[in-house]
Amino acid sequence: MLVKKDQVNYLRAAVTTMSQPHFLLVTFPAQGHINPTLQFSKHLIRIGVRVTFITCISARRRMSKVHTAQGLTFLPFSHGYNDGFQPGDDIDHYLSEFRRRGKEAISEFITSSENEGKPVTCIVYTLFIHWASEVAHKHHIPTALLWIQPATVFDIYYFYFNGYETTFKAQSDEANPQRSIKLPGRPLLATRDLPSFLTALNVYRWALSLFQEQMDVLANESNPKILVNTFDALEHEALNAIGNFNMLCIGPLIPFPFLNSNDSLDNSLRTDLFQSDSKDYLQWLDSKPKSAVVYVSFGSIAVLTKQQVEEIARALISSRRPFLWVVRNRKDGGYEEKEEDKLTFREELEHFGRVVPWCSQVEVLFHPSLGCFVTHCGWNSTLESMVAGVPVVAFPQWSDQGTTAKLIEDVWGNGVRVSANEEGMVERDEIVRCLDLVMGDDEKGMEVKKNVEKWKGLASEAAMEGGFMDMNLKTFVDDIAEGCRM
Ligand code: UDP
Repeated sequence: MLVKKDQVNYLRAAVTTMSQPHFLLVTFPAQGHINPTLQFSKHLIRIGVRVTFITCISARRRMSKVHTAQGLTFLPFSHGYNDGFQPGDDIDHYLSEFRRRGKEAISEFITSSENEGKPVTCIVYTLFIHWASEVAHKHHIPTALLWIQPATVFDIYYFYFNGYETTFKAQSDEANPQRSIKLPGRPLLATRDLPSFLTALNVYRWALSLFQEQMDVLANESNPKILVNTFDALEHEALNAIGNFNMLCIGPLIPFPFLNSNDSLDNSLRTDLFQSDSKDYLQWLDSKPKSAVVYVSFGSIAVLTKQQVEEIARALISSRRPFLWVVRNRKDGGYEEKEEDKLTFREELEHFGRVVPWCSQVEVLFHPSLGCFVTHCGWNSTLESMVAGVPVVAFPQWSDQGTTAKLIEDVWGNGVRVSANEEGMVERDEIVRCLDLVMGDDEKGMEVKKNVEKWKGLASEAAMEGGFMDMNLKTFVDDIAEGCRM
């Protein structure tokens, strides 16, 4: 097997045998979409690919300073919502303008790049941007989907839109959580384990249509390229469950310094759409014993009810462990901060821990004081905790998170999942029970810690030393180069 350095040289040689490839990366303006796409850019740049990263002005404006790397250009375009999506905005109009203006911007960019002698050789798009492939086809440019959720979730959507919709409708029943669905190559899935957009209670019809359109786009391609932010050891079966599609795992797409690499690009290619007051929580973490701190974060989108926030606060106080809790400012999401949004028990909380509006999550997860991560199971957060080797209390909210929580608890075993009561509330005692389980030394806690170590090792292997990430990246870039030569 080639060692990392030889592989990078090989890949670089492979890509320079053609005129410099130029990839256009298109992403939705959300933190969880931008982060893995930026990491993907890094891997492309590293092997000599020129990358243009296109996303809307609303995100570009909010991005904390991203040091530009050689080979990377940002291309912001206006989708008509330059201050971002605001309360009261019409989601259908927002999405249709995003699509219309996005297509125009991509098309203009393709033409201007061609005229400047730097033609776009491939378009890689992420979730909800499948319309980029229409523009690409018009210009005869190959495309790839960068799937930024688990491969298992891709499979579930695929099966839903390919013959299983009736089974889903008959079997998924919020009122009867015992009912479950068996899909080819997947574990038995109860309603709470399914992507929330596929359940009877889904109120986000627009999301379901976008997933359907994505599947239709792939079905119409002769050889669709699907790059998945996962790794083989983690989701081997899911990556191979659909005969029609060749899914290449190119993950985990997380910053590399934390994987013992000296890659300087890592320090520059990170960005935050949210503000944090200061980084003094890192010093606070320094003052805590090893594996003692509970880190709590629900990512960049989920908004918890006031009552749920209070249950978490009560649980953290009664658990008496040091904690770092990210509670985003409502105004950061464009919402008015109301008096009732303010945390009660703040003083009591601050006796044990720190509450911050945002933090440098990967740095936090890699801090030796971290003992567990109470997470909404966003896919980036899940992979980050895995690579950092942090046990998880899975506290899913919506979208793919219930499926990820199922995998964490029942398949990968790197954490436990909270159970909600009949009103959908996770009570304080339940949260404390889960914290005690994953942080304790009894049989369950030890088993979780053993699995955490196992996945940490396998995740690092996938990303380093000629692992699947490099191999598949090479296959993908070679394929594109081959297509360009024809
Ligand atoms: N994140 C961060 N600081 C925070 C909270 C989140 O840097 O205080 C990052 C986190 O590291 C992850 C991303 O935001 O890369 C959130 O993505 P994820 O898929 O976990 O959840 P989403 O926000 O899309 O629901």
